[in-house]
Amino acid sequence: MKKVLLCALAAACLAGAAPKKPKLVLTIVVDQFRYDYLTRFQSEYNGGLARLLTKGAVFTNASYIQVPAITAVGHSTILTGATPSISGIVGNDWYDRDEAVRVSSVSDAKTQLLGGSGPGSSPHRLLVSTVGDELKIAGGGKPRVIGVSLKDRGAILPAGHMADGAFWFDPKTGNFVSSTFYYRELPGWAKQFNAPRPGDKYRGATWLGHKMPEDSAKLFPALEATSFGNELVEAFTEQVLAAEQLGTREFTDLLTVSFSSNDYVGHTYGPDSPEVHEVALSTDRLLEKLLLAVERQVGAGNYLVVFTADHGVAPVPEVNVARRMPGGRIDPASIKAAVQGALVKKYGAGEWVAGHYDLAVYLNQGLIAQLKLDLAEVEREAARAIQALPHISRVYTMEQMMQGGGLRDTVSQKVANGFHMRRSPDVELIPDPYWMLGTGKGTGHASPYSYDTHVPVIFLGAGIRPGQYHGVIAVNDIAPTLATMLEIETPSGSIGRVLTEILVN
Ligand SMILES: [Zn+2]
Repeated sequence: MKKVLLCALAAACLAGAAPKKPKLVLTIVVDQFRYDYLTRFQSEYNGGLARLLTKGAVFTNASYIQVPAITAVGHSTILTGATPSISGIVGNDWYDRDEAVRVSSVSDAKTQLLGGSGPGSSPHRLLVSTVGDELKIAGGGKPRVIGVSLKDRGAILPAGHMADGAFWFDPKTGNFVSSTFYYRELPGWAKQFNAPRPGDKYRGATWLGHKMPEDSAKLFPALEATSFGNELVEAFTEQVLAAEQLGTREFTDLLTVSFSSNDYVGHTYGPDSPEVHEVALSTDRLLEKLLLAVERQVGAGNYLVVFTADHGVAPVPEVNVARRMPGGRIDPASIKAAVQGALVKKYGAGEWVAGHYDLAVYLNQGLIAQLKLDLAEVEREAARAIQALPHISRVYTMEQMMQGGGLRDTVSQKVANGFHMRRSPDVELIPDPYWMLGTGKGTGHASPYSYDTHVPVIFLGAGIRPGQYHGVIAVNDIAPTLATMLEIETPSGSIGRVLTEILVN
């Protein structure tokens, strides 16, 4: 009898402790925000990042488990839990063999831009569902799902197929734009936001000694590589929040926001620069502003925040060399030239390379078929030519990937996770650590190494057990964890694990 009573009491206690579902899930993706930006600048944070770090569940060892580590791939992982091998988002751009053209992850010739001119964008190349899609399906379409970013892919891919809208910055007009995929015309509140041309106030302004151009054609693109770009994203996100009354109804809404200026700044000046330091501090202030706006509208304890990044970044090679670390630059033209030279020598004249983007080399399969050559043999010939170049760690062919070949280690696993049968290249190369594809100044990202793949993952809010979690996790674990908390179906391509250690119950 006593035992039964105790059990009943315990059950009641557990039921009482069960957190109600959040009214709003806010996912914040800071483009190129490396994990060590949290620790290096922590003593200077006193805004949103400080709040996330002290009150959230902070994962200190979260990584991407795929290559390439770039924007579209990262943004398509966070709320799907899928790897590119399943999601189909294998790069920012790839060579579409059916259409014989270079495509972007979100380009869609069937759509038009709204608020700008030219073709629009959509998530039609994303093959899997997002948390937002599953939320919509479970709620009969009623939950609201919206994505915002400076970049089209940063707004579209996290939000998903069934999103109510996605908005991004158009550097031609200075407007936040959308696509006919979502709306017939830009919503009134977005037009209202754009009408006074909010980017104009930065004309002639200086950011860390960098003076903004007076001329609009130069001003809007220049804003992207300063904190001003993030300020515009934050202001627009507040407009979305208020206009759409997110988090104020009986259903859980989802707002995804991606701050991209950190990426533009990082590419230009590198992770060790004063500019990256400054844009991190301004991100801290902007996140606090956004979190306060959310709290005012939704109420403390009624929202859940997930904070992460889409990838990291390599040190500027020259900076690394100066501190006695390895590194250098590989001219991408040398890759194409090596493949073209080797294939002309072996098989005769022709345009043998159909495309070369980041780590990917697409061969001219039409020509190979026309000459009745063995594709696998031509791929091996191309791979040998690239492997012979200096500072190439290794090269994979499509044939090899389909047979599960290559060294059996974590780098090969990351390449396999990034490999999609129809969309991946014939040959994929991995440079040595700290060696970057690209000439000129600045730096980049794409590699499987930790500086490109180790990112923050922080959960904050209702139902989350705060603290530091040092176990190794994958960014893919975010989506199934959210799905579990929201009691919705796991996104279709998810390979992640539920982060049960942070759940209150
Ligand atoms: Zn980038």
